[in-house]
Amino acid sequence: EGAEESAQSGAIVPAGPRPENFPKVLALPLTRRPLFPGFYAPIHIKDPKLADSLVELRARGTPYVGAFLLKDAKESVVTGEKSEEVKDSDLKGEALYKRLHEYGTFAQVLNVIRSVNSDGPAQVFLMGHRRLRLTGMLSDDPLTVSVEHLKDKSYDETSDIIKATFMEVVASLRDLMRYNPLYKETIQVFVQNMGNSHINAARLADFGSALTTADEPLLQEVLEQLDVEKRLNLALVLLKKELELAKLQATIAKNVEEKISGDQRRFFLMEQLKAIKKELGIEADDKTALTGKFFKERLEPHRKQCPEHVLQVIDEELSKLQGLESSSSEFNVTRNYLDWLTALPWGQYSKENFDVRQAQTVLDEDHYGLSDVKERILEFIAVGKLKGTAVGKIICLSGPPGVGKTSIGKSIAKALDRKFFRFSVGGLSDVAEIKGHRRTYVGAMPGKMVQCLKSTGTANPLVLIDEIDKLGRGHAGDPASALLELLDPEQNANFLDHYLDVPIDLSKVLFVCTANLVENIPAPLLDRMEVIRLVGYITDEKMHIARDYLERQARENCGIKKEQVELSDSAMHSLIETYCREAGVRNLQKHIDKIYRKIALKLVRRELDTPKEEEMKQNNLVTVAETKSNAEDMAIKLTDSAVQEGETLEAETMLPSEKEKVDIAQKLPLEKPPCSEPEEKLTGVKASTASETDNKVPDESASSETKEKEEAEEKKVAEEQIKINDTNLHEFVGSPVFVSDRFYDKTPIGVVMGLAWTAMGGSTLYVETSVIEEGEGKGGLQLTGQLGDVMKESASIAHTFARKYLREIDPQNQFFTNSKLHLHVPAGATPKDGPSAGCTMITSMLSLALSKPVNDDVAMTGEVTLTGRVLAIGGVKEKTVASRRSAVKTIIFPKANKRDYDELLPHVKEGLDVHFVDKYEEIFQIAF
Ligand code: ADP
Repeated sequence: EGAEESAQSGAIVPAGPRPENFPKVLALPLTRRPLFPGFYAPIHIKDPKLADSLVELRARGTPYVGAFLLKDAKESVVTGEKSEEVKDSDLKGEALYKRLHEYGTFAQVLNVIRSVNSDGPAQVFLMGHRRLRLTGMLSDDPLTVSVEHLKDKSYDETSDIIKATFMEVVASLRDLMRYNPLYKETIQVFVQNMGNSHINAARLADFGSALTTADEPLLQEVLEQLDVEKRLNLALVLLKKELELAKLQATIAKNVEEKISGDQRRFFLMEQLKAIKKELGIEADDKTALTGKFFKERLEPHRKQCPEHVLQVIDEELSKLQGLESSSSEFNVTRNYLDWLTALPWGQYSKENFDVRQAQTVLDEDHYGLSDVKERILEFIAVGKLKGTAVGKIICLSGPPGVGKTSIGKSIAKALDRKFFRFSVGGLSDVAEIKGHRRTYVGAMPGKMVQCLKSTGTANPLVLIDEIDKLGRGHAGDPASALLELLDPEQNANFLDHYLDVPIDLSKVLFVCTANLVENIPAPLLDRMEVIRLVGYITDEKMHIARDYLERQARENCGIKKEQVELSDSAMHSLIETYCREAGVRNLQKHIDKIYRKIALKLVRRELDTPKEEEMKQNNLVTVAETKSNAEDMAIKLTDSAVQEGETLEAETMLPSEKEKVDIAQKLPLEKPPCSEPEEKLTGVKASTASETDNKVPDESASSETKEKEEAEEKKVAEEQIKINDTNLHEFVGSPVFVSDRFYDKTPIGVVMGLAWTAMGGSTLYVETSVIEEGEGKGGLQLTGQLGDVMKESASIAHTFARKYLREIDPQNQFFTNSKLHLHVPAGATPKDGPSAGCTMITSMLSLALSKPVNDDVAMTGEVTLTGRVLAIGGVKEKTVASRRSAVKTIIFPKANKRDYDELLPHVKEGLDVHFVDKYEEIFQIAF
């Protein structure tokens, strides 16, 4: 047994010391745990003497000691009264001996590490070998004791109980390993140290116990137990306790870990909670709070006027905003929405003007003529005055471009003192422009009406809907229907914009529409409008407009004074007659603007060319020679211009030089003084002083000076004035671009003047017929001139009727039977259509058949049936105005149109010989 043990211990400690060699050993006190055989333990030795002895032992080659656990190590500290002062490590001799447990361990000193000053305390490494028992004290410093070396009681290793306990201990160890990696290491080291050798129960018990963290008494009990089976049991109990402890430790660790991760979870949840709170509007971050405050403040002054349903939406949106993260897209959508909602002028109306006289003045100030339009507007105001509110039918101004539709819309707003907003629906095909987008779209915007209300800031502006006849066809939704909803007084009190989503009241808005052709306005829209026709202006009216309005505007725009320009009547007349013959005045306006711009340039150039008076004086003083050369220059210039004068007449290319001529002619009076003065200057410097005193004299009588100055100014201005007349007009506007639509002075055979009416206003047009070939039965008709279907039909009706009519008046005449005719309507590049040229075509064919030209200056219009009845036509006003422009003297209209004609203003009808006919015969009588 002993041999076996030594063999086994040999695995750890190669050379086993023999017990009989060590009956007395140095006793080392262990303060914390007993030392188990086969285990290492570091101990601390304070007593230098003891340490010295250990070193000596080692030097002697017998480094063996007895390690004994101190009894009641803790108790002495806790309960001891006097012993308190004596620390365990300071115990010595007898006192120490008394405190030692009876059983201890025979240990080998592996190493003694002394502190730097080799007599200080030491660190000693012990290795347990076998159990010892104290038998007596031999010497006290260092404490040497006599010992008995102990052996385990013999046991049966094959007994089931030992085996089972053994297994259980191993199982417990394995469990422990699972719980704590620290054990794992120790156990691995143990197994390694054991090598392949048989691990016996005694060793396992020691090992198992030593591994545990059990209290010293329990461990000491294991050490003292020499019965291996019992020891193994004790070890098992300790291990089980340890296992429990480990389990407990694991649960604690787990709990702690859970607590920590729980804290983390809590943190996340708190964050979520915050977000949820915001969502619910319980809390808000700074930006949302500020934004909300801003909208609230903006709304506050108008809160009372704001309709209930709108307030409700605003409040809802505001509280929604509070719960939103300011960086979220939802926040932006809501904020924009609120921005629109609060920016609209809910219930804010501008005060209207119901003073008819004032309105009249305003209207007259802006527009010449147009008395029917103005009258209609005044009626409107009068109704407003009596009724308290100005709401009525939608006014639709129709007419050719440039007749002032838009600008009169603006004037109406001015006359009524309403805010003005214009939006053009020409080509508009997206209903969203009118009704807005739904808010869910990115970049959604409200419709034009809402934008209008926001920009005008009143709920009763005047809205001009331009070009309503050019409304596009929408692919998604029909803009016309959307406009209808907007314009219909029945519906627009609750106009619903998709974006705004709350009904807005547009019933106080005054709508004015403009159109070129009433016929193109969708019927349901037209039905709700009151159409006022602006037909265009005749020369006389244009003259007034140009003089009283356009010229003034142009002058103001260019910063030119009235006195600086003289645009003669004749120039203006030819400007209108040869440059701007169309119905409207926009082109005329452009031309006048152009003239004034050119004048401005001339004026500025001249200023640069003309040295200032002051400068001139100084120049004069410098040298005579210089003035002389000046004079020479002048002379050269004059001769130059004289030469050019001769040339200018020749060609247009000479125009610039001619302009120069005009310049120089105007400059002359100013530049003369330097030329005439030299003689004075020659006399010396005195002359200049004289002139200075001359200047000083008027100082005393200021009034006379200013008078003089004014006169001089006037004179100067008169001299500077730029004159434009018939002859130099082309310098400013170029050569006439407008070729008259009257290109026959005397209409030849087969040519008749008709009257047409287009979106551009009325105009005259010729119908020409000529013979292609003649021969028995060759009768036929060929058409050119981009005629539409209606006009083609009209032509073949005319052909038939002319043939029939010729038979009536000249039965012998076989012209139509035997001639192939060609009918053309000039300006072949412009498509034409419409029925009103019927009578013109018949007349043209008959003129050819009879070889007789129609009377001079006759123009006619009217659709003719196969039986020769003349039917009513449209655009009487426009056609009359056009006839006047083309210097027509006699007009033939269908009888049915007499009423339209009678409505025309007297000055338009002036000098016209108008016939109203029912049957073609009457036309024939007048025309030939
Ligand atoms: P429209 O809308 O009919 O095409 P505008 O209203 O734009 O034409 O008019 C073009 C220009 O002609 C405007 O500057 C306007 O002041 C001027 N104008 C038109 N008619 C008159 C008029 N009767 N009196 C004075 N100016 C006029």
